[in-house]
Amino acid sequence: MIRADIHLHTSFSSDCDEEMENVIQAGIDRGLDIMCFTEHMDKDYPIEGQFILDCEAYRSRYLELCDKYREKITLLWGVELGLLPWLADWYGSYVNQYPFDFIIGSVHNPKNVDPYYPEYFEGRSEEEAYREYFTESLACLKAFSDFDAIGHMDYVVRYGPNKNKEYSYKKYSDYIDPILKIIVEKGIALEVNSKGYQANLGEPNPCRDIVKRYKELGGEIVTIGSDAHTAEHVAYNFDRVEALLLECGFKYHAVFTGRVPKYYPLG
Ligand SMILES: [Zn+2]
Ligand SMILES: [Zn+2]
Repeated sequence: MIRADIHLHTSFSSDCDEEMENVIQAGIDRGLDIMCFTEHMDKDYPIEGQFILDCEAYRSRYLELCDKYREKITLLWGVELGLLPWLADWYGSYVNQYPFDFIIGSVHNPKNVDPYYPEYFEGRSEEEAYREYFTESLACLKAFSDFDAIGHMDYVVRYGPNKNKEYSYKKYSDYIDPILKIIVEKGIALEVNSKGYQANLGEPNPCRDIVKRYKELGGEIVTIGSDAHTAEHVAYNFDRVEALLLECGFKYHAVFTGRVPKYYPLG
């Protein structure tokens, strides 16, 4: 059983109202041993002031609850950065300003529009929009790679007009392979994000064939997260994620502490 959920949001993220303590309680109830909070920090998000993290307040609440729950669960302190190609220097110094355990690099705003909003898909085909997402992801990764795991690599598919009905790794492999090759080369983990199940994709983000391809290319480091924004979604469908990873040939998943991975057996 997977006993660590290392992609979690609480009220310190601007799209989340859940109290940190409720999230911790849900993790304990579900038998988790480790949880890592990864609040959003998206500098230059198109809606001003959104997704700007108050790291001081976040840190102090975390330390308080860490102490309160130390007998029951290990709590880790991370961040999810919203990548944009021109933010390399800014994020480069940001990641060294705070003692993060774990840093997820995610692309939320290719060309400064979040696919979460329908306007991202307006006036063009879904295929074009998906291609742009992967092209921009590659540009972000080439500009900046000082993070530990790439978050929900096919995030765009959650919001496409047809979601994943006309989507496959194969169809976009020319766009996806270069991303996977860079993360393998740089030793960046591939995150398997179970929110894809919540979005009714029947798969995590990224999809099974991308996870398989990462392994084929020599990738060995996978992290697992629910990306929960409410307590009820903590460790969501982790049994399915575990089965998928075993099927793809992975025997361990990684948990980062002080940005160093430690491996835990699957199955
Ligand atoms: Zn995200
Ligand atoms: Zn997230």
